[in-house]
This record gives sequence, C-alpha cells and structure tokens, in this order.
Amino acid sequence: MKLKEIMSTIETFYKPDDTLIDVAKSLAEKHHSCGLICEYDKPMGIITERDIVRLLSNLASAHLEFDVPIKDVMTHQPICLDAETELVDALDLAKNHNLRHLPVVDSTQRLVGVVTSTDLVKAYLITLDKNIMLENQNRKLHILSIEDPLTGLPNRRAMSMDLRHAAAVARRRAESYSIAIIDLDYFKKYNDHYGHRAGDEALVEIAKTLRNNLRESEKIFRYGGEEFLFLMPATSIEAALIAAQRIRQAIADCEFPHIESPLGLLTVSIGVASGTSDNWEFVIEQADTALYDAKENGRNTVCFTEPITESGFWDFSRSSQSYRPSLN
Ligand code: GH3
Ligand code: MG
Ligand code: MG
Repeated sequence: MKLKEIMSTIETFYKPDDTLIDVAKSLAEKHHSCGLICEYDKPMGIITERDIVRLLSNLASAHLEFDVPIKDVMTHQPICLDAETELVDALDLAKNHNLRHLPVVDSTQRLVGVVTSTDLVKAYLITLDKNIMLENQNRKLHILSIEDPLTGLPNRRAMSMDLRHAAAVARRRAESYSIAIIDLDYFKKYNDHYGHRAGDEALVEIAKTLRNNLRESEKIFRYGGEEFLFLMPATSIEAALIAAQRIRQAIADCEFPHIESPLGLLTVSIGVASGTSDNWEFVIEQADTALYDAKENGRNTVCFTEPITESGFWDFSRSSQSYRPSLN
C-alpha cells in the first residue's frame, strides 16, 4: 500500500506571513491537528496542535505576540515523503524520527496531502488483517485440494505427493517402502441393501477405524470409491503384510453388519506390494494384482506380490501370494 492511498488531501494551507493566532483559529475551526505552510505549493514548514499549545504556554516568557508570523515559530523544512512511498517505509521513518505528521509531496515536490502516524498504523492494521484473511483462505483452499470431503482422509492428489516422496527417500536410502490397497468387500450389495446414505456412513466409519489403527509414519488415503491406499514408508514386504493383517482384522473386529455378505460383516480385502525405486505407479499396479487375488481367494484376505528380485527381473512363477486370515 502506498501513501497516496492513505493520505488526506490538503484543502487549507498557510502562507509564511500568516499570524500564529490566525493559523491557530483556523486549525481549531477545521479540527485539523496540524497546519502546513507553503510557498508556491511547496511545503516550507509545519505547525502542530502541540506546537501551538507549547507556544501559547510560553507566550510571555518567550516575548511572543499573538500576531507573530507563523514563519517565525513553525518547524522549518519538515521531512516530506513522496506519494509513492510504501506504507511500511513511511511507518519506519515516522517511528525512527518520532514524527506524528508527514507532509506528502508529488514528484515535483508540490504538497499533495498529509498523513498522521495514526493513519499509518490504522492502514497497517488493515493490511495485516487482509493478509491474515488471505493466509487463512489459502490454507483452507490447500486443505480442500488435498482432502477427501466425505471421509476427511487425504485424497489421491495428496497420495501422489506422499508416494513420490516416500519412493524418492527409499531409492536414496536403498530401502523398500510398501503399499496396500484396501477394498471393501461386496460394497455394492451393502449400498443396495442399506441404501447409499448408509453406505456413505459406513465409509466414514471405516475411514475412522483405518485412521485409528495407523502407526507412526504410516498413512491412509481415499484412493477411489470404496478403496483406500495404505502407505508404509521404509517398510519391507514382510512387515507390510503384518501391518495389512492388523488393518484387516481391525475392520473385521468392528463387526459392521452386512447381511448380504457371505461373511455377515463388512470386511476388506487387501493387496500389498513393495518397491525400492521411484516407480511408485508400478508398485500400485502390483498391489492391485494382489488385491485381485485377495478377492479371488474369498475376500477378507490379504495377498501380496513378491518384490522385484535383486537381478531386477520379476519372478512370475510366484507373482502373488495369499495370506489367509483366521476367520472368526
Ligand atoms: P468387491 O468385493 O468385488 O469389491 O465388490 P464390490 O461390490 O465392493 O465392488 P464393485 O466394484 O462391484 O462396487 C463398488 C461399490 O462401491 C459400488 C459403488 O456404488 C460403491 N461406492 C463407491 N463409492 C461410493 C461412495 O462414495 N459412497 C457409497 N455409498 N458407495 C460407494
Ligand atoms: Mg473397488
Ligand atoms: Mg469392493
């Protein structure tokens, strides 16, 4: 914000030969806190309310008369600021020189306005408020852009960013990260039987259960309709299988009724895969393949695909392994 946006324009200014009493009367009538004394539109001096009070109280001792010309008692050559000056620079100057009134001039040094230190502080507080509002709006927009509105879980966009990061860290440290895709079993039948709204509520509850069962550094994203992605940075396939079983069991333990499912409960099938390279899309594909196997293996099951062997070739003979749960 520039001074020209804040300043008050000057309607009245005084000549050097105007008397102190006339200037004082004029300031009182107009409720102005300072008067500017100009010659040919250029500010030559300034006199403030405070100056006048001080002068009047010293009138006798200073041997002054009321009709003393203002040029004899004004502050000469006041510090003026260009109308293009930024608010913060003006505030700095006012603070450093303890100035309460700042005449504002244009590029030809002609007086165009005046700002008081109160004007400056008020304008500064308004810009602060605006900045805080903008920051809050930006924060909200950012959250909206990475959060799934139904479950409050981070969405696919957030997922891509986190996966990219986890994969890059894993490659640098030559360690593996793991991914699990979690898919609700017979969810279409759930919607058909209980209604879409109940389906939404179930998704919210499942998301809560997933979130409550996360360990430090693990993350859950809403991957698609009734699918979630479970990211386990710095985790081997063996550890990821244990974690996936923990999650599968946590959902089964909630015992959400689903009378259309052969299991009688809402359950999840999980496909797990690991990777050590930047190619996280490939790891997702592998987890998807394992998920397909979990569905084929009767659901409420965790399956995994073997990580790529050290030679860099995929062992297709054992592309997917199931990890059967102990059904209650
Ligand atoms: P499967 O065990 O093979 O995964 O069977 P499924 O019925 O879960 O799978 P399918 O892909 O046939 O159907 C997925 C269902 O998930 C269909 C769709 O209506 C439901 N679904 C997806 N997103 C939402 C959602 O946001 N809310 C609700 N209520 N249902 C959803
Ligand atoms: Mg699905
Ligand atoms: Mg499903």
